Amino acid sequence: MRDCVFCRIVARQSHADVEYEDDAVLAFKDIYPKAPVHVLIVPKRHIDSILTMERQDAELLGRCLLAARTVGEAKGFGERGYRLRVNCGPGGGQVVNHVHVHFLAG
Ligand code: 5GP
Ligand code: ZN
Repeated sequence: MRDCVFCRIVARQSHADVEYEDDAVLAFKDIYPKAPVHVLIVPKRHIDSILTMERQDAELLGRCLLAARTVGEAKGFGERGYRLRVNCGPGGGQVVNHVHVHFLAG
């Protein structure tokens, strides 16, 4: 397996506090939360970044957004709303090169 911290979490080789899982997506608490609710939503299949995503990745990234909706509803933010953020590449603040959506609320 590639040396990727989020792939290790997906493979359950590293611990994370999982908030949501389906066949394609895993969502877990950010280890250094920047908001009262800070969840990371990642595709189980490794994609580096929006910078290099391909047409074939579009549905999987859409699944991440649907998972964000599910997390939001489960945490009681389904009506109030929340912020989703995707850092893209070093200039966008992306540190972990496994694409992820930050779910920030509260
Ligand atoms: P980025 O800056 O790449 O968009 O965000 C990476 C996020 O991953 C950061 O908010 C950071 O706190 C989080 N993070 C990095 N390593 C780990 C880890 O091992 N476990 C968890 N749960 N979060 C991590
Ligand atoms: Zn990965």
